[in-house]
Amino acid sequence: MRRTKDCLIIAIDGPVGAGKSTAARLLAKRLGYRYVDSGAMYRALSWKALQAGLDLNDEQCLRRLADETSIALEPADDRELILVDGQEVSRQIREREVEQASSKVSIHPSVRSVMVAHQRRMAAQGGVVMDGRDIGTVVFPDADVKFYLTARLEVRARRRHLEIQAAGATRGVDELAEEIKARDARDMGRRASPLRKADEAVTIDTSDSSLSQVVDAMEEEIRRKLAAAQGFT
Ligand code: C5P
Repeated sequence: MRRTKDCLIIAIDGPVGAGKSTAARLLAKRLGYRYVDSGAMYRALSWKALQAGLDLNDEQCLRRLADETSIALEPADDRELILVDGQEVSRQIREREVEQASSKVSIHPSVRSVMVAHQRRMAAQGGVVMDGRDIGTVVFPDADVKFYLTARLEVRARRRHLEIQAAGATRGVDELAEEIKARDARDMGRRASPLRKADEAVTIDTSDSSLSQVVDAMEEEIRRKLAAAQGFT
């Protein structure tokens, strides 16, 4: 751990529905840090690719699109606003079609390298909690604290079900479980930066814990690592 308490980099990875973004957002709030949702960046690019009718298998074309697209994440009240070339698309990027597309667009190594460079720039000053699939392994291999969040498949499917219901859509828990499995398989099975737990990441299974219990555990780990770095263990 090289950074001081105010400017750590906290990396959170894990599969779909493990509770990463909710926990990351609250952790960032408690620490007074910036929260960066890296998945929203892949979704934002995928939204633009779909709008343009691009072939999601055409890496060169998607790389060009990534190069010429401005993606911004702006903190708002309790959420972040996602802007693509200045247009707010926070709601659109959560749609099913975009979600499916994002796990195809993110397979391409050259698209990922544009995103990773952007993510590193956003965290240049530290004081960031970032979540995704490759944050502790590729984006910030030297992150100060790394977490790997996971949960049982049925719990993840039920969470997605509630989220989708809240957004006014209906899809069965079983159907969602199948979608989650397919997206996890693509994220874990791809050649470029597959989802995996970083060696030194602390695993938290969120299946039977409340949000505050999860974030308390994360804060405790951060405190423990800071104390250890300062020789207070
Ligand atoms: O986290 P979220 O579900 O919004 O991410 C959407 C998709 O973006 C994931 O299924 C994954 O394919 C991709 N992603 C990624 N690397 C990240 C974050 C997201 O490949 N760091």
